[in-house]
Amino acid sequence: MKKTLFVFVITLNVLLGQNFEVDKSRIIDLFENLKKFGVNENEGNDRVAYSDFDIQARQYISKKLEQINAEVYTDFAGNLIAIYNPNNSSLNPISFGSHIDAVPNGGHYDGPVGVISAIEVLQTAHYKKINFSHPLELIVFSNEEGGVFGSRALAGKINNETLEVVTVSGYTNREGVNRLGGNSNRIFEEKRKLGDIHAFLEIHIEQGNNLYSKNIDIGIVEGIVGLKWWNVKIEGYSNHAGTTPMNQRKDAMIAAAKFILMVNETVNSFDGTQVGTVGRISAEPGVPNVIPGIVNLSLELRDLSSEKISMIYNKILENTGLIEKETKTSFSFSPIDATGDPALMDERLINIIKEVSNSFKYSSRTMPSGAGHDAQNMALIAPTAMIFTPSKDGVSHSPKEFTNFDMIKKATDVLLNAIIRIDKIELKN
Ligand SMILES: [Zn+2]
Repeated sequence: MKKTLFVFVITLNVLLGQNFEVDKSRIIDLFENLKKFGVNENEGNDRVAYSDFDIQARQYISKKLEQINAEVYTDFAGNLIAIYNPNNSSLNPISFGSHIDAVPNGGHYDGPVGVISAIEVLQTAHYKKINFSHPLELIVFSNEEGGVFGSRALAGKINNETLEVVTVSGYTNREGVNRLGGNSNRIFEEKRKLGDIHAFLEIHIEQGNNLYSKNIDIGIVEGIVGLKWWNVKIEGYSNHAGTTPMNQRKDAMIAAAKFILMVNETVNSFDGTQVGTVGRISAEPGVPNVIPGIVNLSLELRDLSSEKISMIYNKILENTGLIEKETKTSFSFSPIDATGDPALMDERLINIIKEVSNSFKYSSRTMPSGAGHDAQNMALIAPTAMIFTPSKDGVSHSPKEFTNFDMIKKATDVLLNAIIRIDKIELKN
């Protein structure tokens, strides 16, 4: 009995202890080739969703994946899917991937790093003949930058209205999906059920400066923040800027100035990583010699907890009451339908990523994601985790995006070996 246990422990150690390394030169090769589809005169990338560049890049990726005997197809939602399943396993897949579409004049890292690392995971699995019980599924999501379209389709969160949205390419989602080889008439069939996917993982550049500034190799995302937006209308009274005495004014712009500072102070008054922003403002009538009677501005709050967002919002409302009294103006708040609920990452997967990082002696830290990602939607249907890799100076959505290949290689090592461990465990929701 004791001997059996001993052998079992040894076997488990061997199973858990062996790490496979990915190939940095293959990562560089994928990067340099993918970059060509959409590179512009600023050294940025114009590979917006549904563009010819998007289509050509997908053809390149498909070829690479067919070379390692993956079954490649485009689903009805325009997601490029590669199934790697040499054992013909009938288990649910372990899925991973990201996007290759960019914002206009974007960079070569936001999205592509997640796809390149996913391809390299399959290449290493193939060339090193790593054995998996679950099929591996690589996903290149359609139109991430224009509203995480492909992952929302998988999570069943799109409707006919979403299909008619015109994207930066000039094509609607409906037209774009068909251009990629999808089928907009059958798109709703792509919805996957909770439990259809064993686990989902995504590598992405951090798009912040936490990892780079502290020289940390691996960011382990605890959750993706939820965000809420409001239109805020401030009503005062328009009057002559020359003849109205200072003590008789109902100046909406003064109220706005106080409001903007108050939002900043209120958000800062709570412990935690919540953020709040007033990003847009306009005054009416908006001329130099009239006291503004109306100011419209925006309020945005983000946090990992919906309750925290509500708590901060209520405090802002309370403080707004004081500004109304002081400035003799009135405020109204109307929510904008651009809200995303916070998505928590799976703790079991977080722990595995941490263990794997430690086993490679790669430094890591857990952190929230302040930006939205495809993983946010995948978290609705599967145990999900995200790995961040450092962004130089925290820059993204710019030709200046940069992450060095050593860092991408480290993140890909962690992804591959996390998948190897996840393959061996039960993950009931
Ligand atoms: Zn992205």
